[in-house]
Amino acid sequence: ALFRALGSEGVRVMMESALTARDRVGVQDFVLLENHTSEAAFIENLRKRFKENLIYTYIGSVLVSVNPYKELEIYTKQHMERYRGVNFYEVSPHIYAVSDNAYRSMRTERRDQCILISGESGAGKTEASKKILQYYAVTCPASEQVQTVKDRLLQSNPVLEAFGNAKTLRNDNSSRFGKYMDIQFDFRGAPVGGHILNYLLEKSRVVHQNHGERNFHIFYQLIEGGEEDLLRRLGLERNTQQYQYLVKGNCPKVSSINDRNDWKAVRKALSVIGFNDDEVEELLNIIASVLHLGNVQFGAEESGNAYITTDTQIKYLARLLGVEGSILKEALTHKKIIAKGEELMSPLNSEQAASARDALSKAVYGRTFTWLVNKINLSLAYKDDLYPLSKNASVIGLLDIYGFEVFQQNSFEQFCINYCNEKLQQLFIELTLKSEQEEYESEGITWEPVQFFNNKIICDLVEEKFKGIISILDEECLRPGDASDLTFLEKLENTVGGHAHFVTHKLADGKTRKVMGREEFRLLHYAGEVNYNVNGFLDKNNDLLFRNLKEVRALGLTVLFCCVNAHHTSSLCCSSILTQCFDREELTDKKRPETTATQFKNSLAKLMEILMSKEPSYIRCIKPNDAKQAGRFDEVLIRHQVKYLGLMENLRVRRAGFAYRRRYEVFLQRYKSLCPDTWPNWKGRLADGVSTLVKHLGYKPEEYKLGRSKIFIRFPKTLFATEDALEV
Ligand code: ATP
Ligand code: MG
Repeated sequence: ALFRALGSEGVRVMMESALTARDRVGVQDFVLLENHTSEAAFIENLRKRFKENLIYTYIGSVLVSVNPYKELEIYTKQHMERYRGVNFYEVSPHIYAVSDNAYRSMRTERRDQCILISGESGAGKTEASKKILQYYAVTCPASEQVQTVKDRLLQSNPVLEAFGNAKTLRNDNSSRFGKYMDIQFDFRGAPVGGHILNYLLEKSRVVHQNHGERNFHIFYQLIEGGEEDLLRRLGLERNTQQYQYLVKGNCPKVSSINDRNDWKAVRKALSVIGFNDDEVEELLNIIASVLHLGNVQFGAEESGNAYITTDTQIKYLARLLGVEGSILKEALTHKKIIAKGEELMSPLNSEQAASARDALSKAVYGRTFTWLVNKINLSLAYKDDLYPLSKNASVIGLLDIYGFEVFQQNSFEQFCINYCNEKLQQLFIELTLKSEQEEYESEGITWEPVQFFNNKIICDLVEEKFKGIISILDEECLRPGDASDLTFLEKLENTVGGHAHFVTHKLADGKTRKVMGREEFRLLHYAGEVNYNVNGFLDKNNDLLFRNLKEVRALGLTVLFCCVNAHHTSSLCCSSILTQCFDREELTDKKRPETTATQFKNSLAKLMEILMSKEPSYIRCIKPNDAKQAGRFDEVLIRHQVKYLGLMENLRVRRAGFAYRRRYEVFLQRYKSLCPDTWPNWKGRLADGVSTLVKHLGYKPEEYKLGRSKIFIRFPKTLFATEDALEV
C-alpha cells in the first residue's frame, strides 16, 4: 500500500534519503546536514555524491553542480520528461528541476525569472546554460514559427563560442566574455524571442596568448575548415603557424577540438541565425584582416621612423578592408596630430607602430564581436507581427558570467571580474534574505533576523563616485602629465588607504609591509584576499582612448576614415561592418569615450537592475580538479571554490531559521501512512491533517511551525526520524 501511495518515483527518493542510502550518497540538500556549519561535512557530502555520479545537490533552492568531466546519462528526453511539472523536491536534484521550476513560476505567478550561473573557469557554467536552453527547446510548446526561434536560440551558442571562446590552460572551451541572455515566452509558454548582453570580451587574446593557450576558436576554424577558394579570396594559407597572432601560445591543435567540424557547425549556425552570404563574407574579411594585420612588420629608417617591410599583407588588407594601400601604410606608421588647428601626420617609431597595430587589431575584433551580438539580437528579436497575441511576453534570463578569480598575478581583468562578483554577491544577499523574509511573512511566521556580512562596503570602495577605486583610476587616465600606474597606486593610498578592505605595502606608521610588492594593492573581498598588480591598469582602462594611446585611436579612426572616404569616392567596397562598429562621432574627437572600467561599471549597474526585477534561481558550479579528468575529486581545490562561491554562508542563511519546509499537501502525501488518522486519506483541512500527523509522530512544539500553506521544520534530525519511520 505504501509503495502504491508513493509511486515509483517517490519510492526511489525515499530510498535515497533513507539512512543507509544517506551514508552512501550523502544528503541531496545540504540543509539536511546534521552539522551544517562544518565545511568538512559539506565537502564530504559533495565527495560522496560525486563518487556516485550524483553531481547535483541543493542548498535549499540553490543548485550546486560538480563538473563530472564525462558524459552522464542524465540529460535524455526521458529525464526531461521526468522533471517536467513535478515538485522540485520529489525527484533527485537536477538542473532540469531548476529549469522547470523557473519556467512554472514564470507561468503561474507571471513573474519574470532569472537563473544565475557562477563558478570558476572550467566549472561547467556554459554547459549548464546550454542544458537549460535545451530543456526549454524540447519541453516548451512549439509551432513552426516557434521552432525557428528555438533553432536560432540554440544556434546562437556555436557562433558566440567561435568568436568569444578560446582554449586556455583551465578550459579547452573557455568563454572569454560574460553573457546574459533573455529568453522570451508568449502567453502559451512558447519561446518567441531572445536577447543577449555581452560583457568584457578579453580582447588582449587577439594579439597575445600565454603558453599553452590559443586565440579565439574562429581563427583556427577558418584556416582549418575554410574552403579553398574562400581562403584564396582572403589571402590566407591553410597553416595556422603562418600567423603571428596564432603562434604565441605554441598550441595550434587541441585534442578535444576538431576545428574543421566546428567550422561547418558555425557556418550552418550563421545561416540558421539569418546571416546572408555577403554578411558572412564580410565578417570573414575582418577575421582575415586581423590575421594579416598581425603579420604586418615594421623596420626603422635611420631617423628612427617606422616603415612597413611586409607589402603583401598591405595588399591583402587594402583589398579586404576596401582601403587604398598607400593610405593604409601611412595610417599604420603615423599618428594624426592637430597643430594650430591643422591636421598633420607625425611619424611613429617601429615600436610605437607595432603597438598601434595591435591596438587596432584588438579594437577591430572587439567591435566586430559586439556587432555580431547585435546582429544575433536582431535575428532573435521578438517579432510582434508574427506573434500578435503575445504582447505580454514573460522572460527567463540566463547569466553565464566569470566567477571569482585569484591567480598568482592579478591584474586589471581580475579586478573587474572580482568587482562583478562582489555585485552579484550583493544581489544574492539582498534577494535571498528578502525572499526568506517574504516567505516567513507570507506564511505568517515570525522573522528571525540573520547575521550576515554585507559586502556593500566593498562595492562602494570600488565604485563610489569621486572616492572609489574606479573614479581614481579614471582620474589618473585623464590627467595630463606624468600619470602612471604608480601614481595611480599612490593616489589610491592617499584616498582609500584607510579603508578597512584596502591594503598596500605601506603601513600607517610610515613603515612598509614586507609581504607585499610595491606595485600591489590588496582588496579584502567577501570571498577572500586578492593582491592586484597595478602594472598596465592605466593602459587597459584607457583602451583605445586618450593620452599615450591617442595615436592608436587616431590610427583606428584613420583606417575607418579611409573606409568612409573610399566608400564615397570610389567603387571599392569598404567594410560596412566596420563603419557600423565605429561611432562617427569618435572621428571628430567630439565625444570622449568612457574608460573600460566605467563602461563595465555602468553595464553592471544595468545588469543588476535587470536581475533585481526578476525572481532568481542560482546554480553554483564547481570544478573537481585541474586536470580536466573524470572521477578526480581534489579536496583542496574544491574547498577554495566552496569558499569563493560563498556556499557556507549561503547554507548558514538558509539554515538560520528552519532547515526544511514543505507545502502541506506534499508533506501529507509523503508521510500520511505513518498515522492511522491520516491514512489512507485525510478528509479535512490540510493544515489540520499535518498537525494531527506530527503530533502523532511526537514532534515537540519548538521543532516545527505551521504556516499558512507550509510546515517549517527546524532541525534535519526531526525529518530524518520521520523518514526512517517510513523505512520500518
Ligand atoms: P569558463 O569560465 O572558462 O567559460 P565554464 O564554467 O563555462 O568555464 P564549461 O565550458 O561549461 O566551463 O565546461 C568545461 C568543460 O567541462 C566542458 O567543455 C565539458 O567538457 C565539461 N563539462 C562541464 N559540465 C559538464 C556536464 N554537465 N557533463 C559533462 N561534461 C561537462
Ligand atoms: Mg564558459
